Amino acid sequence: MLSEFDLIAQYFTRPPRANGQVALGVGDDCALLTPTAGMQLAISSDMLVSGRHFFADVDPYTLGHKSLAVNLSDLAAMGARPLGFTLALALPEARAEWLAPFAKGLLALADLHHCELIGGDTTKGPLNICITIFGETAPGQALRRDAAKIGDDIWVSGTLGDARLALAGYRLNACKNDPDEPLGGQINLDASNHALAAARMHQPTPRVALGLALRGIAHAAIDISDGLIGDLGHILQRSGVGAKLSVDDLPLGAVLAQQPQTIQRHFALAGGDDYELCFTAAAAQREAVLTAAQNASTKVTRIGSIVADPGIAFVAADGTALDLQLSSFDHFRTT
Ligand code: ADP
Ligand code: MG
Repeated sequence: MLSEFDLIAQYFTRPPRANGQVALGVGDDCALLTPTAGMQLAISSDMLVSGRHFFADVDPYTLGHKSLAVNLSDLAAMGARPLGFTLALALPEARAEWLAPFAKGLLALADLHHCELIGGDTTKGPLNICITIFGETAPGQALRRDAAKIGDDIWVSGTLGDARLALAGYRLNACKNDPDEPLGGQINLDASNHALAAARMHQPTPRVALGLALRGIAHAAIDISDGLIGDLGHILQRSGVGAKLSVDDLPLGAVLAQQPQTIQRHFALAGGDDYELCFTAAAAQREAVLTAAQNASTKVTRIGSIVADPGIAFVAADGTALDLQLSSFDHFRTT
């Protein structure tokens, strides 16, 4: 069994990278980070708990990826550039077969975004992964939730719902009549499609480049972790506005697109774990949004508009109102 210090040295300590903003990394009482002069720090924490956010036996490589991806996604939603992160890890036991791939998945994504692991804490306990991430943004340029304006277009990046479909697949494999999947009887998912959807669930793509490209163009933004309507709802509430959503324009995940319409709508609107960006921008900025998305090599789709009436009104392609009964994922629901 590795000691705490051997474990940190072996898996979570690397020579400092060349970006120059990490003045001191792992190994002292604190890390030292040098933000660019005049920039604001953007800081966010996310905790992943075994049995709640992931299955205990999930592939440790993808778990390492996802642990950082959800934090990078928060920086993306703010339009902030990643600098570094800390990792607080509770582990039931120090097993190389788990630690090596976990660190590999984590650090591969860190390298992709030039985001350094600068410190953390390690303790024995039920598996729990808490990352705090640090980024920077120019004052006044952050994409805040309270900045949506009436008349704005509503956009979403990538596609929605495949992660939620993968979760349904796991639940239905374990129990055909899982009460958490009341629409399960309508789902048709063979093993290869389930694997495709599961890749979206386990290895989300944080839209960092898009968030950066939207600075000065978008008004409000949020990343979709708990389902589009719930997360868009946060923008609406904080901005004191409402939304009209064109349900037939939602960009569906490739696997979800093969499901019946009820499943498509529910999972795209109220799924979870998508880690796409939902953002608003003035209608006059349509071309600028599309150019920013192209520069970030990320697909974006216009799905509705911000209106004065509170709440979310759903409309079909022909403009008729749709009455959809949906609720987004809620960590404290009782089921
Ligand atoms: P302290 O006693 O000051 O809390 P620790 O002994 O917990 O310090 O950690 C020693 C060093 O290793 C510190 O620089 C800390 O930031 C770093 N560290 C601890 N755990 C991790 C981890 N899981 N990942 C990265 N760095 C870590
Ligand atoms: Mg410590």
